[in-house]
Amino acid sequence: MGCKLAWEHFSGQLLPPVIVRVYLSHMEVRFYDYVHRQIVPLILLSVFPGLGYLFLGWRGGVVWPAAAWYLGILLVSGWGILLHRAYLRRSLAQWEKERWYRRVLAFYYVFFLLWALIFLLYCGETRGNLHYIAIFTQIGASAVASTFLYPEPRLYRPLIPGMMLLLVIYFAMLGEWYGYVLSIFAAILGGVLLYGSERSFQLLLRTHRQATHDMLTGLPNRQHFSSQLAQTMVDLRYSGGFSSLLLIDLDHFKTVNDSLGHEIGDGLLKEVARRLRGELPPSCHLARLGGDEFIVIGRRLPNRASGESKVVVLAERLLRVLKQTYVIKGHHLYISASIGVRIFEPGEEDAGKLIREADIAMYEAKRAGRDGVVFSEDISQKVRQHLDVERLLHFAMERSEVSLRFQPILDAERKPVGAECLCRWHNPELGEVSPMVFIPIAEQTGLIVELGRYILEQAFNTLRQWHENGVRLEQFSVNISIRQLMHQRFVAEVAELCERLLTPELRKRLVFEITESVIREEVDRVLAVMERLRELGIRFSMDDFGTGYSALGFLKRLPVEELKIDRSFVDDLEHDPQSRSMVDAILGIAGFLDLRTVAEGVETEAQFEFLKEKGSGLFQGYLFSRPLLAADFEAFCRQAQTEEKSP
Ligand code: C2E
Ligand code: CA
Ligand code: CA
Repeated sequence: MGCKLAWEHFSGQLLPPVIVRVYLSHMEVRFYDYVHRQIVPLILLSVFPGLGYLFLGWRGGVVWPAAAWYLGILLVSGWGILLHRAYLRRSLAQWEKERWYRRVLAFYYVFFLLWALIFLLYCGETRGNLHYIAIFTQIGASAVASTFLYPEPRLYRPLIPGMMLLLVIYFAMLGEWYGYVLSIFAAILGGVLLYGSERSFQLLLRTHRQATHDMLTGLPNRQHFSSQLAQTMVDLRYSGGFSSLLLIDLDHFKTVNDSLGHEIGDGLLKEVARRLRGELPPSCHLARLGGDEFIVIGRRLPNRASGESKVVVLAERLLRVLKQTYVIKGHHLYISASIGVRIFEPGEEDAGKLIREADIAMYEAKRAGRDGVVFSEDISQKVRQHLDVERLLHFAMERSEVSLRFQPILDAERKPVGAECLCRWHNPELGEVSPMVFIPIAEQTGLIVELGRYILEQAFNTLRQWHENGVRLEQFSVNISIRQLMHQRFVAEVAELCERLLTPELRKRLVFEITESVIREEVDRVLAVMERLRELGIRFSMDDFGTGYSALGFLKRLPVEELKIDRSFVDDLEHDPQSRSMVDAILGIAGFLDLRTVAEGVETEAQFEFLKEKGSGLFQGYLFSRPLLAADFEAFCRQAQTEEKSP
């Protein structure tokens, strides 16, 4: 709490983001903001009381020297104001900041020298008791130095003893016993003020360290890293060239943590940090973003092509040192890492975006088998899209971006007998995303469970609505992905939705389309799930039949009532004899197992005729209708009905 308050105290509200830079040595820490902020109060503390000194000087008969001194104060104050403004005007490159800092230090020296000067001027004057004023001034100035300058030892360490030394000498030169006593007291007071500054400085350092560093590894934390990165970007704007961001993530760190405990995990992280620090050139910034994620800002690279190879060499060196055996509390551990690299150049201003892109590249390195380096630039458009989808799909449901379409399923007389629900995702950033793209991603990430539930609820509502509007269908098909089907809560959720939204009569219309990938699951579990769903009245269809590897024996055991002849076979019917044999075979199997068939993707009359002739019972495809909005589907059915009545 105390630390936090102290920190806020330093990172004032009116100033640009906390711009502090930490080096390894304490003496090299710069509190730019704080030093900057003291300029104005110090000027105010000099310009106004300075008038009092001018008045006293006039009364003491030293008006001209006092006036000259005051003029000095005014001039130096003007200089201070200029320095103050220079810092605020724009983001300074690091070297400019260093130069600015040196000038500010000079400004402070000159300022305090001026106050020492007024002491020297007045201490010899007994007229108007100016020597008392002088003594007070010197003590006051030392106290001010001690309270204002403690963030910079290069200021308070020479200035406080220097000013108090003048007093010590002055008292000693009085030549009286009380003068010697006062002289000793002045020395002691100087020591106390110096000690106070020193303590405050140490406290400031500690607070600063706690706010900007990770306590476990001692590396800069995410927040501090962000300001380092922002500074690097400003620097690059002035210097030109490129720089790199390396995001390092340990592979399978979680396993170590879970199996051996957090203490060992912490030990490992510390050692990783130590090795990284040791391997990186001092000009690189290293930070821990959290967990087992580390990040590095590499050196400035004068040109891109040679720079990239340098980064590869560095990254590979890091991977190598991280892979060496770790011995932590008697455990011998091995761990590898994945590194994502983002090279950046002046003008790329969004630090958050850079980190995210390095993160995406790192993720890609993991996907490519871990223990490797991937450059952000090398990630294909496809992977990028994959990652975008993954990121945005999470919010798709709550933002109502996912909707359903319904494609009619017709019999040989072209009468609509059913519908297949197909989902659509429209995202403002990505536009229309095909379910062929986002369903597999939802399956990989597990989001399919939530998405599937959402789709089922919408689908059931539509079915009920249609029923209420007098649309009668024999079947209502919903695609169910395997991961969704095998989810432990799936049956219970379907039961709950059925209970809430559908009558037992309507439930009998439901067909769940599953794919041949169920083969890869445990047969008994699949069967148990399907059995329980059948008890609710739900039937099953084998989607995309013939594209996977169907084991006939397995198919025979599954309670499936329908086969869907995949679009790819229907597509090629006219040109490819193999597709024709395939369709023949599928229809043969369906006949043998006594299953209904739906031929999907029927686009031409020729395909329709062929399939009808071969004995397929049901049809679906653009020849009849594209997937429709719920209301359009209703209209489609009504029109079919009226056509039927008036042939
Ligand atoms: P699918 O289950 O095989 O669905 C049939 C796909 O073929 C649909 O594409 C449909 O629009 C398209 N199609 C229908 N007739 C024709 C035609 O005559 N010509 C052509 N070229 N295409 C036709 P869509 O809607 O893009 O869906 C693609 C796949 O995404 C689906 O293949 C299904 O595997 C999956 N999918 C769609 N909606 C869902 C869903 O709600 N849940 C799950 N788990 N998967 C879904
Ligand atoms: Ca389907
Ligand atoms: Ca299909």
